[in-house]
Amino acid sequence: MFNLFSRETLVNQLKENTDWDVIVIGGGGTGLGVALDSASRGFKTLLLEQVDFAKGTSSRSTKLVHGGVRYLAQGNIDLVKEALYERGLMLKNAPHLVGDQSFIIPNYSWWDNFFYTIGLKVYDFLSGKLSFGRSSRISKDETKSRLKTLKKGQLKGGVVYHDGQFDDSRLAINLAQTCIEHGATVLNHFKVTHLLKNNTGKICGVQTVDSETEATYTLNSRAVINATGVFTDDVLKMDNAQAKNKIRPSQGVHVVLDKSFLPGNDAIMIPKTKDGRVLFLVPWHNRVVVGTTDTLMESHSLEPKALSQEIDFILETANAYLTKPVGKQDVLSVFAGLRPLAAPKDNSEKTKEISRSHKIIKSKSGLITITGGKWTTYRRMAQDTINRVIKLGKLPNVKCITKTLLIHGADGAVHKSNHLYVYGSDKKHIIALIEKSPELGEKLHERLEFTKVEVVWAIRNEMARTVDDVLARRVRVLFLDAKAAVEIAPLVASILAKELGRNKGWEKEQIASFTKIASHYIL
Ligand SMILES: Cc1cc2nc3c(=O)[nH]c(=O)nc-3n(C[C@H](O)[C@H](O)[C@H](O)COP(=O)(O)OP(=O)(O)OC[C@H]3O[C@@H](n4cnc5c(N)ncnc54)[C@H](O)[C@@H]3O)c2cc1C
Repeated sequence: MFNLFSRETLVNQLKENTDWDVIVIGGGGTGLGVALDSASRGFKTLLLEQVDFAKGTSSRSTKLVHGGVRYLAQGNIDLVKEALYERGLMLKNAPHLVGDQSFIIPNYSWWDNFFYTIGLKVYDFLSGKLSFGRSSRISKDETKSRLKTLKKGQLKGGVVYHDGQFDDSRLAINLAQTCIEHGATVLNHFKVTHLLKNNTGKICGVQTVDSETEATYTLNSRAVINATGVFTDDVLKMDNAQAKNKIRPSQGVHVVLDKSFLPGNDAIMIPKTKDGRVLFLVPWHNRVVVGTTDTLMESHSLEPKALSQEIDFILETANAYLTKPVGKQDVLSVFAGLRPLAAPKDNSEKTKEISRSHKIIKSKSGLITITGGKWTTYRRMAQDTINRVIKLGKLPNVKCITKTLLIHGADGAVHKSNHLYVYGSDKKHIIALIEKSPELGEKLHERLEFTKVEVVWAIRNEMARTVDDVLARRVRVLFLDAKAAVEIAPLVASILAKELGRNKGWEKEQIASFTKIASHYIL
């Protein structure tokens, strides 16, 4: 049966087409957004991702779809307004994955209570018609009753505000599917190894390698977009080996705890930790995500590892606010992500954060690089990137249509009755699979809500090729309970082997390689 999302179908499209309008390098939120914008304008689009969609920073966010209360405090009104607008569009276009989340800022001084009440009124105002709900001041008693595990101490009251929350890597997968449904070719496990130039030194395509077969493809394109996050410099150096580094990675870590540490529906936002950072405790998939940190790193990696001082900082801060003591033994998973900061131009300049408003760089060779921004603004970043390519005369002028474009899975009626709600309009097909083969309804692990059918679905319809693809970014077990993820790796490897026709040796390699990755997520 023809399957739009099968690797065979997608690789055949590569074999049949060597000439493209747009080739996007990088399958995080940014690259996928650009590919969708391009394909939905009718351009012949190819996206190549070296490992898996959202393998980089895009699976390691705080899971917020937000304007950024922090940026408001810094007076960055335009950025907040833009992000609040995009937040509203994300809710409309992917309602199965983006939801309203109430946050409470607990206040321990009357001045803070006043300050945050006013500040969040401005936040409400900036969201205009796309508001997620009005903010309000709440009493000390209401704060106590809504946040049962919060230390009371000198508590004066709280301020409630609303923002969005989402599943980052599932959105990436659904974006990849939407790209394909709009005619793009989107491939994971395809690394771009070289940029091709014509005899005037202009970039005219890429060379890429299929990691599964090691086959090399040489492909031409009118525009090549570098959307590789903290890998930006590696691609810029493919263009010009002498190029100076533009990026310096800064690491952000989160820990995941069970729901007993924050039993209600409200998230906690701590606007100023001891050392002046922001810390969130957010309910997510029936657990709690706590973070984050900001640690300057010397190098980037596909699997960044949390530093012990980062873990200590998060646990200490959580312990300063929670009545239930939290220790390392309570951490179900720890994950680290890298944000690209602007590298200093020379020793006299301090490293500073790339403005959260994104940046589009055009190299002499014609390579277009999109960097910075945040998940929440991925659509706008994509629109600006393709508009820029059009302005440069590389593509005909066609209007962007993504403001109202529904993402795969979007379903008018979202019922969060069980964990399958993230599949949106696909949920009924998943249930039908269980009806046909009841054994697929069996749980993967006694501690987990996830079932075998989700693994099968991920392989058949969501382009999962490895145990890591399944357990990190389709079914989020690695982020929710890393030890359980290791325990079910052999089961998942055997399902993959059966579905993809692989042998026992491959299965063994998969288990070993996943166990190594997962060791970074276990304390
Ligand atoms: C700790 C932390 C928390 C955050 N929290 C939030 C949040 O709550 N809300 C929010 O809106 N934003 C948040 N962000 C920001 C957001 O996560 C990022 O802006 C976004 O994920 C960046 O996506 P990207 O596609 O640019 O980069 P990435 O997701 O890193 O994608 C780049 C991709 O390029 C691929 N690649 C690299 N080289 C090649 C090559 N040669 N060939 C093919 N592919 C290649 C990589 O494998 C990778 O998958 C957070 C960021 C961090 C670090």
